[in-house]
Amino acid sequence: MPRQEITPPQCAFFDADDTLFPSEPTAMGVAVARLLRTFDEASVLARFGDEWRAWADQRAGAGRHSADRTLSAYLVARWTGSRYDAMFAECNEARRASGQRPFSSEVAARSADDNAAETLQALANVGEIRGVGAAIRNVQRLGMRTVVVTTSAKDRVLACMDSPRANLPRSFRPSTSSTTVYSASSLGLEPKPSPEVYLHAAAAEGVLPQDVVAIEDSPTGMRSAAAAKIGWKIGFLGALEHPADRDDRREALLAAGADVIAEDGRQLRTALTLLARGLAPTPERVRGLDAPSVAA
Ligand SMILES: [Mg+2]
Repeated sequence: MPRQEITPPQCAFFDADDTLFPSEPTAMGVAVARLLRTFDEASVLARFGDEWRAWADQRAGAGRHSADRTLSAYLVARWTGSRYDAMFAECNEARRASGQRPFSSEVAARSADDNAAETLQALANVGEIRGVGAAIRNVQRLGMRTVVVTTSAKDRVLACMDSPRANLPRSFRPSTSSTTVYSASSLGLEPKPSPEVYLHAAAAEGVLPQDVVAIEDSPTGMRSAAAAKIGWKIGFLGALEHPADRDDRREALLAAGADVIAEDGRQLRTALTLLARGLAPTPERVRGLDAPSVAA
């Protein structure tokens, strides 16, 4: 075995939505639909219209015609990883800018029914991101602790992790293991991109942020990990199918501080195996193009 190049991280912090299971488009789609019902189209278009049209034009380029270019799709992409109250505040600002009285906090507040509806919607649509379960099982076998660090409500994350359709290993599911879920919403912490939930999780696990590897699919989450000075940050594209989405996200994750990109579950497993063995996860190694081979 080659000599170690780095100190292996002690702990892997997994984001939940679109990292462990595909739920961001569903949960975010519910939130965006609710916002578009609440706010009038004119103020939303005044605020987001130009950005949306530029985004849609860019996707109308070669090979991108089949990508969803609706306003809803743009807003889902724009807010991936954000919390509902932040999205609501942005729309409310647009309403104020167009000369209307902003909505009160009662309108912004989500009811228990809204949260339950989102959990049911997410559960109805939850599925598997191929290779994530195998990557988790493998990294656990190599001696790294695995926890979840999320902005989302803990109830929804626990329910999705336990769904057989997410196909996560028994050694990681909440009902059959002691995996800890650190939820910014449920702990009353600032949502990502604030570093609060990462710093809280590191302190609770008794590790320094530099001895942690974070796995994030969204730029918002990546900025949170970077602000917390997490030692290794993997940008994960496993939940995205369309090439246009993947290209945009790859760029955004690197700009937000990702050390390396894992294109799919297999590359995620390779990146984590390299780290667990004390080897730097260079892009060539993660893609399997450079020795040392870490096929496990
Ligand atoms: Mg996510």
